[in-house]
Amino acid sequence: MKVFKFGGASVKDAAGVRNLANIVQTQGQNTVVVVSAMGKTTNALEALVRAYVSQQRNLIDTHLQDIQTYHTNIISELSGDFSKVDTTFAGLETYLRKPPIGSYDEIYDQIVSLGEVISTQIVAAYLTETGLSARWADARQLICTDATFREGRVDWETTNQRIKQAVSQNNTTITQGFIGQTSDGRTTTLGREGSDYTAAIFAYCLDAESVTIWKDVPGVLNADPKWFDETVLLEKITYQDAIELAYYGATVIHPKTIKPLQNKSIPLFVRSFMEPEKPGTVIGAFEQHLSIPSFIFKVNQVLISLHPNDFSFIAEDNLSRIFGQFADAGVKINLMQNTAISFSVVVDNNPDRVPNLLAQLKQNFRVTYNDGLELITIRYYDQSTIDRVLVNKKLLLEQKSRYTVQLVVRDLG
Ligand code: ASP
Ligand code: MG
Repeated sequence: MKVFKFGGASVKDAAGVRNLANIVQTQGQNTVVVVSAMGKTTNALEALVRAYVSQQRNLIDTHLQDIQTYHTNIISELSGDFSKVDTTFAGLETYLRKPPIGSYDEIYDQIVSLGEVISTQIVAAYLTETGLSARWADARQLICTDATFREGRVDWETTNQRIKQAVSQNNTTITQGFIGQTSDGRTTTLGREGSDYTAAIFAYCLDAESVTIWKDVPGVLNADPKWFDETVLLEKITYQDAIELAYYGATVIHPKTIKPLQNKSIPLFVRSFMEPEKPGTVIGAFEQHLSIPSFIFKVNQVLISLHPNDFSFIAEDNLSRIFGQFADAGVKINLMQNTAISFSVVVDNNPDRVPNLLAQLKQNFRVTYNDGLELITIRYYDQSTIDRVLVNKKLLLEQKSRYTVQLVVRDLG
């Protein structure tokens, strides 16, 4: 049994859906196929959530229309019975007509999760039409999580039982990435880009022979071609290196994906859906760590420095309070550094979360911050690679460990 995962970019149009079908037909019989929402649907649904929570009727209607038209256009170029998609949209319309109840994050999950429901309904209907025995499975019935909306934590025991029971080895199962459900039946999501993680959950529970993530890049590169001119395809990566790269923000794989696979020594392939005959990258239990530096680049970073208002030091008591506030605000720390009387962190400048956090922190600390920064992480660095990335940048903070350096910079460019 194998697990395939197709991201939003791979099914952004009808040609993508046909290409997926082709790959599944030729390489993926008896496979669990995990699919994300089509194209940028998740972003569009996020906008719909904002409109709904603030009850802006016109905006709700335009966003819903746009999302519906986008999918209808894709369907119109494919053959199959797509009636389930209409049912999903009808359910969404009914939901949006009622006044919002529950927390923002809970509402978010009820709405945003439908991107995956719709994409898999389309893919399953099309695969069936092409003659493949494709079974649509509802991941909400299989992946059981706690009620941490937008970042559901998996209940492995229940999930394991359900997946083992539901997935048969003898046909192709189409299911949704990214979504799950609480034990009392409310939909949750696993965090943005969480479909990779779903693939790993299925693979873990089924003792799969491998996972393949089909992407719009040839495999894992040592840097994102969006920012770097010269990139190298990494053919083999150890689980450890892959975890570190993903953790520091290499967007090619969701960070939670690797650990479950490592536990069961399940190899993870990252391959191009444009060139499905090429081998891509394999992540597995190899001896040899990467031999060239890898670069991870994050923009829109904010450096927040906290200075106690009283004469206290930055010690355990202050730190535990600070971490508690970050956790409550749902803000992840990308880098931290402290001196006796100040504590600095670098985080993504998320407009939904950071302003609230700053307001909280200001109750106990003098807070200074610098926004518009970049965070560059180099794994297996040397001085010449550092010098190269610092051209035309002002260095604000640097942190080195044995294998990894992180540089917080302002672009002077
Ligand atoms: N559709 C979700 C997102 O865009 C999950 C995923 O793509 O992995 O975040
Ligand atoms: Mg996506």
